[in-house]
Amino acid sequence: MGAYATINPATGEALAEFPVISDREVDAILDRAHTAYLSWRETPLAQRTAALARAAQLSTERIDELAKLLTLEMGKPLMQAQGEVMLVASIFKYYAENAEKFLADEVLDAVGGGEAVVRTEPIGVILGVMPWNFPYYQVARFAAPNLALGNTIVLKHARNCPQSALAMEKLLHDAGIPKDAYINAFIDSRQVAEIIADPRVQGVSLTGSEKAGSAVGEVAGRHMKRYVLELGGSDPFIVLEDADVDGAVKEAVMGRVMNAGQACTASKRFIVVDSVYDEFTQKFIGAMTQIPTGDPTDPATMVGPLSSAQAAKDLGELVKDAVDKGAELHSAPQPDGGGAYYAPAVLTGVTSEMRAFSEELFGPVATVFRVPSPQAAVELANSSPFGLGGSIFTKNLDLARELAGDLETGMVWINAVTGSSAELPFGGVKRSGVGRELGKYGMSEFANKKLVRVP
Ligand code: NDP
Repeated sequence: MGAYATINPATGEALAEFPVISDREVDAILDRAHTAYLSWRETPLAQRTAALARAAQLSTERIDELAKLLTLEMGKPLMQAQGEVMLVASIFKYYAENAEKFLADEVLDAVGGGEAVVRTEPIGVILGVMPWNFPYYQVARFAAPNLALGNTIVLKHARNCPQSALAMEKLLHDAGIPKDAYINAFIDSRQVAEIIADPRVQGVSLTGSEKAGSAVGEVAGRHMKRYVLELGGSDPFIVLEDADVDGAVKEAVMGRVMNAGQACTASKRFIVVDSVYDEFTQKFIGAMTQIPTGDPTDPATMVGPLSSAQAAKDLGELVKDAVDKGAELHSAPQPDGGGAYYAPAVLTGVTSEMRAFSEELFGPVATVFRVPSPQAAVELANSSPFGLGGSIFTKNLDLARELAGDLETGMVWINAVTGSSAELPFGGVKRSGVGRELGKYGMSEFANKKLVRVP
């Protein structure tokens, strides 16, 4: 595998390169992270949370420079990049303010009386393997609860966002997280596996593709290390007969094209009951094909380039496969020239023989399906190998709550697209992953829930 590199996806220009570090350097990093753990876990909680509060403040102060880096490295439109930085600030603040509550001892009623207390203690060095689609947010939601808990972190970021990775490391150090309690490491997959196996490391959290997730989960299982996997999704967006169609179309567009559609929880399959299918689909296609697409530094841009030329090519191949097998493509003209651009589009007539039926469309391309009933909508939604989030649009909230129980997903949003907020648990079932991040749940994954019993 090659070096870490910044390649502006809007122009294709290679801007900076960072070599993969040596095995000797990896060994030294693990020593440092382990030694840091021994003192970080003993550092008063108030000091750990003060550093997170300062990280929140620094994120806000540095919003412009941080956002510009995202736009440069992975093409996120500037306004959305600023939104990501604000979300990051809210995550740091949330754990700064709530860690004490989450770490409080839990007193149990034990059979036979006496004292039974569950403590929440850190476990050691945790490896983070993070993707390029939300380079700061993905790190923050993993790092904030673990640093608050007293774990230390070695972070392997995606190969195409090295400068964002370094900016996050600097921010945390400037905020008061000790240099060895959070270490960015430019490493490759082999070194990832070796780190997971190393006795100085107690767990790994990966956000990314199924392929990377199963590779990492396999190694973690073999060495009995804890793991959290936040993988792909193909979130259903169900529209029922009594839905506010115009409102649903607005949400549908946002749900599909934010971050150029490169989000695990983006709405990807639009499942619409027969009676409103024609109206929804016509309005949705109209809106999707008029979205301002182009230069991500232009504040008017809603969809910038995909993260890389390869990502645009991969998406094009999925669409071509569907069209070759009979699906209909509704798209604005594809931009030509340089840059990894892909114009927002809608596919109708998608069938189970097409890759687009079961694979994740990681870009601004929607699939729309017609179904006869709410039950058929749920059945189609559940036919996916993924189970991350899902949305149901209807005025009948009782029905929506009932259908939410039938959806095989980790999250269901009613009359809204799946979102993320510091206090809400995030994660999926089936091939979308293992474990939960954020909220109080995000603080238990790499904790030792230690029982102390005095009978
Ligand atoms: P990857 O899963 O390959 O990359 C995510 C992270 O995992 C990167 O840091 C990557 O490192 C690392 N990684 C990849 N393979 C391994 C491995 N075998 N062992 C250890 N670490 C590994 O995502 P891609 O960028 O290739 O995107 C491909 C697809 O993945 C997307 O189209 C989308 O479907 C899905 N995806 C989902 C995301 C989500 O938010 N759930 C985020 C990103 C992608 P490196 O960069 O060095 O390869």
